[in-house]
Parts: sequence; structure tokens; C-alpha cells
Amino acid sequence: MACALALARFGVAHTNQRQQQHCKLRSIAVLGAVLPRAHPCGSVLVDPKQSARHASRSFWRCRSAQHHAEGTAAQDPEDTREHQKATVCIIGGGPAAHTAAIYLARAEMQPVLFEGWMANGLAPGGQLTTTTYIENFPGFPQPILGGDLCDNFRQQSINYGTTIYTETVSKIDLRHGPPFRIETEERVVDADTVIVATGAAAKKLRIGNIDQFWNMGISACAVCDGSSPLFRNHPVAVIGGGDVAMEEALFLARYASKVYIVHRFDHLESSVVMARRAMAHPKIEVVWQHEALEAFGKEDGTLAGIRIRDRRNGEVSDLAVNGLFFAIGHAPATAFLDGQVELDSGGYIVTPPGSTATSVPGVFAAGDVMDRKWRQAITSAGAGCIASMEAQHFLQARQESGAATLVPAVALDAAWAAQVKAATAAAEQQGSGDEAAPATAGPVSS
Ligand SMILES: Cc1cc2nc3c(=O)[nH]c(=O)nc-3n(C[C@H](O)[C@H](O)[C@H](O)COP(=O)(O)OP(=O)(O)OC[C@H]3O[C@@H](n4cnc5c(N)ncnc54)[C@H](O)[C@@H]3O)c2cc1C
Repeated sequence: MACALALARFGVAHTNQRQQQHCKLRSIAVLGAVLPRAHPCGSVLVDPKQSARHASRSFWRCRSAQHHAEGTAAQDPEDTREHQKATVCIIGGGPAAHTAAIYLARAEMQPVLFEGWMANGLAPGGQLTTTTYIENFPGFPQPILGGDLCDNFRQQSINYGTTIYTETVSKIDLRHGPPFRIETEERVVDADTVIVATGAAAKKLRIGNIDQFWNMGISACAVCDGSSPLFRNHPVAVIGGGDVAMEEALFLARYASKVYIVHRFDHLESSVVMARRAMAHPKIEVVWQHEALEAFGKEDGTLAGIRIRDRRNGEVSDLAVNGLFFAIGHAPATAFLDGQVELDSGGYIVTPPGSTATSVPGVFAAGDVMDRKWRQAITSAGAGCIASMEAQHFLQARQESGAATLVPAVALDAAWAAQVKAATAAAEQQGSGDEAAPATAGPVSS
């Protein structure tokens, strides 16, 4: 369904990643000029840590850049993909990725963004493309469709100069950077910093005809959808037995007439506190040792209930509910990182509190891919903003320490420093003595 939605939004047909060319071309058309500025070949520095193979790749990177500047195709006999360089490469296409892109583009960092194509089962735009109306994203007094909000994010990124490729990153080399190497089937990008914002997808229980009722009663986010009129004062069910399931059930109990927690086992896997809280709630009832078999609907197409089986005796019965919420976990899109960044037991990228820094200096993570707790569009956007600033600080520190960067100067910091210097000089020239004119220039990004 997500695929169908995506196709509808893009108006193109894809059967495999090679066919993304259509989409890529569309991106190029939208952008007008998507190729980042050409980098002088001489600015490519080979890191002494690089292996011989990598060094030879650097040669081809170098050649590639030259050809790029000349407007010709790369001549690497082993690799016919396009090669290019970037100061920042953002991987992901949801609110975290686009917020980072908007900030970085405004700071004249010319970010390159890979929004993926059905990566982790999600269309470009991310999880919001799988839902209908969003009512809790600030700035939209009226509900806005998830897909429309994503289109707005994307357009804003483009307006400020982000280069977007509708390609999925299949491979990444973080061991030899910076520059870090990011690869898709069509392209290779060497970037000084990387922001991973690949999100997470809610795990769906593979029961019959589930797709038919997705957004028509079946959801994976109580906070997002729980207050919908579809569920208010009606019975709903939650599938799961961990802390998230308890939280979802307690949240839903504010609106629903009754909340069933359908659980496969005879004990809950949540913390004792959460289990007690849920089980003590007058509206919540645990349906022990049952599993869902299929969903069935009403004439208007919305969910009418689920068929469940008692695992103790095989007895099948129907549970009439207007809503079914999966709380069986999320799958963060981190497999492509191939163990190069520290992950927690659930596959989420580990970052320190209040920061988006990962275990690899220069690589940052934002949004649901590093947030196993809050997972909201606005928290993801906030993390994207932090990542953009941390990436800029990283580049600035590198530049100040004299480390090699692919791009000759960090435009933001150079412009800011020049403005401060000019303002100070002007104040001195005017003989303002101790009362130096305040340096009103600030980072472009803030
Ligand atoms: C049904 C539903 C309803 C929701 N409703 C709300 C709501 O009302 N309000 C709210 O605040 N939040 C809501 N959320 C949660 C919100 O959608 C997420 O918290 C938010 O989208 C996370 O943003 P993100 O940028 O971190 O990642 P995502 O939105 O998950 O986006 C990640 C993107 O990265 C792409 N990607 C993955 N791997 C790769 C790769 N290798 N290469 C390139 N791209 C890749 C994915 O395809 C995806 O497009 C809802 C979620 C769901 C599932």
C-alpha cells in the first residue's frame, strides 16, 4: 500500500532500483541543477589510513571529480556509477532528514540527500506517508495529510539548495573516513560528514488482510491516532505484551470505551510497574494466551473486529473492536550500516543524551533511527536540527585543526568570521573606543 501511495505521489512506476532513474530524473528536473559544485581534483587528499585498494579508489574518485567538472562521465572501468563529493550527506527522507537538510542548505553547505526508494518498506517521506491526517505538527492549525506534510518538507529542502536523489543507500564505508563513502546502485558520494536519518518502521503482525484495514482501524501509533473519532468511545485492541503495549493501552484508555490487550503468553514482558498500571485500569482487559488470525470489516470499509485463537485449546472467537494497534516493536533501518556504528540491542543507533553524535566521529544520527522512546515527527525534526548543527561544529573543528576537508572552506564559518571582523574593524575606524559596535552578524543557520 505504501508503494501504491508512493507511486501515486511520484506518478512513476518502479519495479526495481534501476528503474529509479525516472524518479532521479524527476528530482533533477525539479531542482533545475542538482549536481553539486565541482571540486578541484587537487583538494582530494588520500588519508594515510586508507588501504591500497582504497587509495586506488581515491584515484578514481579524483578522476571522477575531474570528469565531473568537465561534464563527462567517470571513466573508472570497474565502476560506471556517478562519483561526486559533498560536505554533508544525509541518508533518509523523513522529517529528521529534511530538517537537517533545510538547516544545512541555509548554511550553504549544499547537502546531498538520499531519500531512498521503498527503503525499509517506506516511500520517500517516511512513516508519515503511511498515515492520513496529522494534527500535532506545529504550524498547521488545520489537519494536514501526512503525504502533504512530507511534500512540504521536501520542497523546503529543495528551495534552499538541497540535492535530493531518490535512491536507496545500499553500502557505506565509515571505517576510512572522513571522507566517508556512501553508495547506491547509481552513485558514489564521498562526504566529510554523514547524517543517518533512516527512521524505523513499525513491525506489522502478518495476519490475513491486514493491509486492507491499515489506516481504516489498524495502526501502529496510539499517540498519533488514538484520539481519532474512529476510536473514541469504541472498543479497541492492542497486540503486544511489553512496555510499549502497556503505554499504548493506557493512552488509548483515555478515549476508547474498552481496551483489550491481546497477548500470546500467560505473562506480560513489560516492567512490573507498567504491567500493574495497565492491569489496574478499569477499561483495560488482558486477553491471555490468544493470537490474532485475521481482521474483518464493516460495510464502510473500516475495521469491525479481529478473529482470535485461544492458544490453549485452539478455540476461535471474534473480538469486536474498531481499532487494532500493533505494539510489537519497530525495525530501525540500520542494516546497511553493517556494524560500523554502535547499535543497541534493538538495532537503534546509540547516541549520548542530548546529542546526535554516534560512535564514529563525523557521523550523526537523527530521528526514529536513534530514538526508541518518543518516535514523533516533531522529535525527529528536532533531532535533525541538532544533527545539522553538530555536523557544522564537527566541520568547523576539523577545519580549525587543519585536517583535510574535501571542500576548501566551510562557507558558513568563513562568512560569519568575515562579517564579525568587518563589523569590529568598522567600529574601530569610527573611533568608538571601548564601545565597540556589537557584532550583529550571526550564523546563517540560526
Ligand atoms: C501510521 C503512523 C502514524 C503516525 N502519525 C504521527 C502523527 O500524527 N504525529 C507525529 O508526530 N508522528 C506520527 N508518526 C510517527 C512519525 O511518522 C515518525 O516519528 C517520524 O516520521 C520519524 O521520522 P524520521 O525522519 O526519523 O524517519 P522516517 O519517517 O521513518 O523516514 C525515514 C526515511 O528514510 C528512508 N530510508 C531508510 N533506509 C534508507 C536507506 N538505506 N537509504 C535511503 N533512505 C532510507 C525510509 O525509506 C524513509 O523514507 C506516525 C507514524 C506512523 C507509522
